[in-house]
Amino acid sequence: MPQRAVTAETSLARPEWTRARRVVVKIGSALLADRETGTLKREWLASLVADVAELVRQGKQVVLVSSGSIALGRHKLGLPTGPLELEQSQAAAAVGQISLAHAYQELAATSGLTVAQILLTLGDTEQRQRYLNARHTIETLIELKAIPVVNENDTVATAEIKYGDNDRLSARVAGMVSADCLVLLSDVDGLYTAPPNEDARAQHIPLVTEITSEIEAMAGDAGTELSKGGMKTKIEAGRIALGAGTNMVIATGKVLHPLRAISEGGKVTWFLAKQDPLTAKKRWIAGQLEPRGTLYVDTGAEKALAGGKSLLAAGVTRVEGTFERGDAVIIRARDGRELGRGLSAYARGEAERILGRKSSEIADILGFEGGPELIHRNDMALHRK
Ligand code: GLU
Repeated sequence: MPQRAVTAETSLARPEWTRARRVVVKIGSALLADRETGTLKREWLASLVADVAELVRQGKQVVLVSSGSIALGRHKLGLPTGPLELEQSQAAAAVGQISLAHAYQELAATSGLTVAQILLTLGDTEQRQRYLNARHTIETLIELKAIPVVNENDTVATAEIKYGDNDRLSARVAGMVSADCLVLLSDVDGLYTAPPNEDARAQHIPLVTEITSEIEAMAGDAGTELSKGGMKTKIEAGRIALGAGTNMVIATGKVLHPLRAISEGGKVTWFLAKQDPLTAKKRWIAGQLEPRGTLYVDTGAEKALAGGKSLLAAGVTRVEGTFERGDAVIIRARDGRELGRGLSAYARGEAERILGRKSSEIADILGFEGGPELIHRNDMALHRK
């Protein structure tokens, strides 16, 4: 029977964990499915869900990224052990995902939580419009106090359009929802100077502040048969997370109550981001994206933006360029001064039809409910005066 990693007396959690408001937790297949029988490890999952409920009570928002569909489904279909053909893993995922979702639903209900299934493919995080749509749905679920349980849509994913591992998928999801913290629950308790199963002198590294080539070299490749990602994909996940301003922690899931163990200062590896998610996102908008168009705003909107408000259609006087929903655009004052940049919530054609109009008129004009902001303040980087 697994033991708790540490007791409360030994140490305390890092402030990055205590302060984190939005947390993404990735759960690997090996933790969820028994290697021999392919059955769900119920007691373990119940302890994890109880931890999630506790974090929610503390005011945190939790998104789960759970593997396990293939591991659970393959046994039900009587597929052989060892690597599967693509069609076999797609079929296994189709069967296993139902059991997985059902288990989460049942266990969450005992803690009074509602779970929601989200199946993503690579394009949902890479293509701007689909990214915005997926983000919007996850945000809405969080607002409604449901716990999104995300997995890759393995049943339709083929080799070219596949993540393949949930380490990187979870890092993309963390970036997508601007999470403060990503937890990778794994069968190891963190990063070692060398793979610990191969090198007895390997030393545990408690803290990483930058992913250097030295850190990458330490990862080796420790994939197990059930879970795709080894330490290598975890380091890649770290690169994505840190770039998005999300702190990441690799912790063992081989104990009951693995999240409580983090709260109690258990042995883990922390990867600390240099900036918070909002700053990281604003830098990305200001510096990395090629603007596709321009929105000219009136003096009222200019004042509102300076006061930290979103850009509403009512304050826009003119639109230039060819852009889709989610593309970066330049915001200019009437006299042409560049005020900042942001991600447009509407395509050019739509923006043109609603400019100067009141928020309450938008749905009638466009025929759908798209929200009052042309650019949300969180999707905007203004130049300092
Ligand atoms: N999405 C796969 C599954 O649910 C797992 C991928 C991984 O192990 O990272 O079975």
